[in-house]
Amino acid sequence: MDLTPAPTENSLKYPVVEVEAVDTGEQVPAEPLEEASSDFEPDSDDSDGWETLSNGEHTIQLLRDEELRDGVAPGACTLDEANVFRQRLHAIGKAAFVEETIARETVTAKKLCTAFGILPPPFLEGAPDEAYHPLLAIAISREFSRRPKLPQYNTIDDAVRLLRESKNIIVLTGAGISTSLGIPDFRSKDTGLYSKLEHLGLSDPQEVFDIHVFREDPTIFFSIAKDILPTENKYSPTHGFIRLLQDKGKLLTNYTQNIDNIEANAGVLPEKIVQCHGSFATATCVKCQFKVPGDAIFNDIKDGVTPECTVCKQEIADDALKPQGLKRKRSKNGQQKDRKNSDSSDEDDYEIPTPGVMKPDITFFGEDLPDEFGQRLVHHDRELADLVIVIGTSLKVAPVAEVPGVLPRNVPQIYISRTPVSHTGFDIDLLGDCDVVVSELCRRAGWDLQHHMIPADEKVEITPAEGYESRHVFQVVGA
Ligand SMILES: [Zn+2]
Repeated sequence: MDLTPAPTENSLKYPVVEVEAVDTGEQVPAEPLEEASSDFEPDSDDSDGWETLSNGEHTIQLLRDEELRDGVAPGACTLDEANVFRQRLHAIGKAAFVEETIARETVTAKKLCTAFGILPPPFLEGAPDEAYHPLLAIAISREFSRRPKLPQYNTIDDAVRLLRESKNIIVLTGAGISTSLGIPDFRSKDTGLYSKLEHLGLSDPQEVFDIHVFREDPTIFFSIAKDILPTENKYSPTHGFIRLLQDKGKLLTNYTQNIDNIEANAGVLPEKIVQCHGSFATATCVKCQFKVPGDAIFNDIKDGVTPECTVCKQEIADDALKPQGLKRKRSKNGQQKDRKNSDSSDEDDYEIPTPGVMKPDITFFGEDLPDEFGQRLVHHDRELADLVIVIGTSLKVAPVAEVPGVLPRNVPQIYISRTPVSHTGFDIDLLGDCDVVVSELCRRAGWDLQHHMIPADEKVEITPAEGYESRHVFQVVGA
């Protein structure tokens, strides 16, 4: 039974609230657990997972599955017990689960908290079991909002079989699939690009991708745009893998966070790609909305020049040919004057026409995401998808981060990246260089993924990650 409400397009535009919880000051009877809400927030979601939840006053320590397995917390559930409780919760829903456990006193709230990875905090030690109800509400909500791992998919063979048997695969991609081409993850703060931005005098380097800054002064963006412009006609083995899925008739949609449009270089068809953050593939006039193919402005971008709209320019030129009385005046340097500072003579009252700036159709901070994303996901792909493969993204940025949660929970999900994520439960984690992982998967599937970056006799060693039967580490051991 799937109790998750069908998502709306709107819900996709906002980040998921991962932790629904209750105010710990109140006692919560069984029924209102459904409506729990609180100030508890995860303290961090870095790569080794959420260690604690905090509301500023109290900090709740989280228990990992390995800790349950190893029995390090006295009085806690075993991992097997925890898995039974979790499966039961997902099977019958929150209210019925609470009725079956706490209301019938088959288990204490204190112990049940541990089944959902929450360690009873010292400040509740010795309190009556009811005192643990608010905490349990947090634990249950947290678990319920999480997609449960499907127990039947664990091994490399499972992953290969899923690849071979699936017919409508959703591939979610992020910056990690382009880094082997030397393309930086330019939105993140730790890349070389941002250090180049310091001289621009921006308080936050991300301002270069802020739509308000762009409207104010587009030259800031165009002074660095050449550094992020995809110019060479190259693509990585992982892009080649997506193309291969398309060739085999298995690619439903590639949702990508990347704006480099490199999928096109690999031959992935435009109708198979949703560029969630837009791309350089097209550009639009900020004044008249005239659209051009992206490469029409590439020369300007390479020269560091702010590209102007040809339609606007033509209109201004036509205007200049009109009879004197209707003519609009242009300033000497072609720039629009700052009206506040100029003397208001009769002539200056004319609107000084300037052509619109051509803005690449990448989504800036402060702009809405392309509509196509939610439309396609909710109204089309959701019903069809039979496998999800997430590659090269930590899935922390909306809207792509929401895709796994929007799909029916029985659709298997595979994760391919260098580092595991803990905030979303995948069925199989394949860790390593994504080019290496996909090439090995193809080898095992009997598929011919040819790419000059994959050595013909590449040997890949796969070792299980300790403590996880569904997590595997890929490493090249020789070629
Ligand atoms: Zn225009």
